[in-house]
Amino acid sequence: MTEVHKLSCHCGDIELEVSYALGRLLECNCSSCARSGFLHWKVPVEAVRLLTQKRRLSVYLWRDVDGGHHFCPTCGTAVFRTGYRDRISVNARCLVGVDVFTLDVERWDGRSEMPPGPTM
Ligand SMILES: [Zn+2]
Repeated sequence: MTEVHKLSCHCGDIELEVSYALGRLLECNCSSCARSGFLHWKVPVEAVRLLTQKRRLSVYLWRDVDGGHHFCPTCGTAVFRTGYRDRISVNARCLVGVDVFTLDVERWDGRSEMPPGPTM
């Protein structure tokens, strides 16, 4: 049976479920992740089920029109990112009932690997 993980933003307005085994987690030092503290857990698009109405989410686009940083407009928590083709990166810091200090986290040098991208 597939593991089902629940994630939420801080205020609880945004909730989602991920039906996928908890796996590789990446901390990134790119211009955006360094500021938001996003902890990447990339899962197949079909493994993610949004439990909240889509229009409750806000999105910040800075690199491509098809990829963005999706966050709760009420509490500001970064919930997931799109723009990885068949994957969505969900923020493992939003896992309900999981202490992030118990997770193994790898580092990814996004600062060197990716161009910063336009901010306008
Ligand atoms: Zn919120």
